[in-house]
Formats: sequence, structure tokens, C-alpha cells
Amino acid sequence: MDLKTFIRDIDNFPKEGVVFKDITPLLANAQAMQYTLDKLLEMVGDVPIDKVVGMESRGFFFAPLLAQKLNAGFVPVRKPNKLPAAKTSQTYDLEYGTDTLEIHSDAILAGEKILVHDDVLATGGTAKATCDLIKRLGGEIVQCNFLIELDFLNGRHKLGDIPMRALLNY
Ligand code: AMP
Repeated sequence: MDLKTFIRDIDNFPKEGVVFKDITPLLANAQAMQYTLDKLLEMVGDVPIDKVVGMESRGFFFAPLLAQKLNAGFVPVRKPNKLPAAKTSQTYDLEYGTDTLEIHSDAILAGEKILVHDDVLATGGTAKATCDLIKRLGGEIVQCNFLIELDFLNGRHKLGDIPMRALLNY
């Protein structure tokens, strides 16, 4: 199945100059959704996973499905002031300014094996900040797993030696 036919480019969204990869046509198609889930699982392989961490908000589509298939828990990483209990925060640099991501401090136990999932790897800032949060809680990152990697933004470089895989490259 050619999954790229289910991903639509939206020019200048959410701001001028950005070509947004809209995955909603893929989500709306049962066969494409099932095929994507199978392929994302194939990228993980047979290694045991304790928790799947998904980033707000489009990481939330597949991360819980992966967690269920892997017999793992799901942990959300969220934008500031969304999580209600004691949390750990990580601020990271954007082109202009900074952003912050948060995780519940008790969501990951030291030594747990973690799979990170998001829809798109762009500059890598989101994935790097998420990995930093997981490491600060003592989690061991098995893989960062993406549906789409935007090669020209070189986000892979920001992840350093953290293992990463993407299903589709642009
Ligand atoms: P980054 O931190 O630059 O790697 O950006 C990754 C986050 O922004 C992901 O959570 C994506 O959902 C979103 N994102 C960035 N660029 C795009 C894009 N061109 N199309 C769709 N989502 C994007």
C-alpha cells in the first residue's frame, strides 16, 4: 500500500512557508490505518517495551494503539499546564523563542524500556525534549518511532545516538 497517497500537503499551515503533512485522510481509512499500525510495529521489532510515550497532539493517534499491541502502558507528553499531577518540564529552543513539554513525574519508573512515537519528525526539537524528559525520569529509550521524517530539516541529527526509525521520508 502506498501510504503517501493518504497524506496531504497543506501549504502555508499553520504559518506562511510551512508545508503541513496532513495525516487525517490516512486516519479516516480503515485499511491505511491498520497497515500503518502494522508497519510501525514492524519497525519496533521484538524488543520488550514497558511504556509508549506519545507527544501532544498528533502523537496521540498511534501511540496508544502501539502500546496496546505491545502490551505496554501509554504515557502522554503534553503542552504546558495540561497535566494535573506532579510533573517534570523541559524547555527547548525554537527558531524564535522557546517551548516547553511536560510529563507526569510518576509516569515512568527508572529502568523502564520506552518507545517514543510522534507523527512527524521535523526539526527534532519536540522529540529531543521528550527524550530528555524520559531520561530525567530514568527511562531507557529503545526507539523514537515516527510516521513521517522530513529529511531536509535534519531532525535525526538532534537525536544524536538515540535509535530512530521513520516509516515515510520526504
Ligand atoms: P519538530 O519539533 O520541529 O520536530 O516538530 C515536530 C512536531 O511538530 C510534531 O509533533 C509534528 O506533529 C509537528 N510538525 C512539525 N512540522 C510539521 C509538518 N510539516 N507537518 C505536520 N506536522 C508538523
